[in-house]
Amino acid sequence: MSLSSTELLPTAVRPALRAAVSGLPSYVPGRRGTGVDIAALASNESHHEPLPAAAAAVAEAAARMNRYPDMAAVGLRERIAAQFGVSADEVAVGPGSVGVLQQIITGLCDAGDEVVFAWRSFEAYPILVEVAGARAVRVPLDAAEGHDLDAMAAAVTERTKVILLCTPNNPTGVPISHERIEAFLRSVRSDILVVIDEAYVEYADAGSGPDSLGLYRAFPNVCILRTFSKAYGLAGLRVGYAVATPEIAEGLRRTAIPFGVTALAQAAAIASLDAADEMEARVAVVKEERARMAAILEDRGWTLPRSQGNFLWIRTDDELRPRLMDAFDNAGILVRAYQGDGIRITVADPASNDRVLAVLESFTA
Ligand SMILES: *Cc1c(COP(=O)(O)O)cnc(C)c1O
Repeated sequence: MSLSSTELLPTAVRPALRAAVSGLPSYVPGRRGTGVDIAALASNESHHEPLPAAAAAVAEAAARMNRYPDMAAVGLRERIAAQFGVSADEVAVGPGSVGVLQQIITGLCDAGDEVVFAWRSFEAYPILVEVAGARAVRVPLDAAEGHDLDAMAAAVTERTKVILLCTPNNPTGVPISHERIEAFLRSVRSDILVVIDEAYVEYADAGSGPDSLGLYRAFPNVCILRTFSKAYGLAGLRVGYAVATPEIAEGLRRTAIPFGVTALAQAAAIASLDAADEMEARVAVVKEERARMAAILEDRGWTLPRSQGNFLWIRTDDELRPRLMDAFDNAGILVRAYQGDGIRITVADPASNDRVLAVLESFTA
């Protein structure tokens, strides 16, 4: 009988993960489906194929993938800067906005520093914070499933370095109004970086959320975080960005993994921004579907927050949630369950959405 390597080494001399890492929850990815009849509605991806211009840019860039990408991503940063009317010095890119957020947290937090965010919100937040050795401070959502900004301001201590605001909030879909964020920014110390994570901003109705660029101009401690993964349909390529002061943006670029954004992703992101009107036409259809589903569900007695993202949120107790999840499983529909809180369902093509409605209608008396 042979011994495995772990049996040969006494615990004390085995390589050990840092406590912050071994204590981490695992990131629970949206479940994936490959079957033809599976509706993949667990990850808020776009159900559309990539925009034609993005696909063409990738094909072209692929011919040169023996070369490293432009490490400074100058072309993409300039294109983003032009979009916002800022300088390329104020833009940092990363492998997805999760990658940029990791750069933010490692760039600003020492061990024991605190990052305040709402909960429930994006699941990557506590993981990124804790792996950096910082402390995650979760502030419960208010009764309307939105950020409780007063409680978040009250949770700030002298160790707070970063506050994360997710609008519209994943998974509840509730946005934070411009006025509320503005008042919040007046009340928090200006040495705390306030990150406005707008992963779903393209799906939000005009005026429902903040004018984040206006807030950034008025409050230099604001950092805008955006992604190409959702409305632009580039989730598989990994590219996102931050707009922040040149000092912060430079710091984020320093903490980045070298060459972390591939040439394919850079090219596709530029082409996508150039084709924003095509993206917007697709988004308009998703928003119509979101409204259609919400109206039908409300009519059937479900109460849901008015989502401004490409997803719907159903708060459930621990008795209903497993039964709903079984019903979705049996119908070949992948959705995301949140222990203790609820279920998030991505809004996609009308046929998939009808399948979701059929499952939920079977639960209404
Ligand atoms: C999906 C999502 C992101 C984007 O992740 P990428 O790394 O850019 O794919 C960021 N924030 C929130 C809240 C999200 O839901």
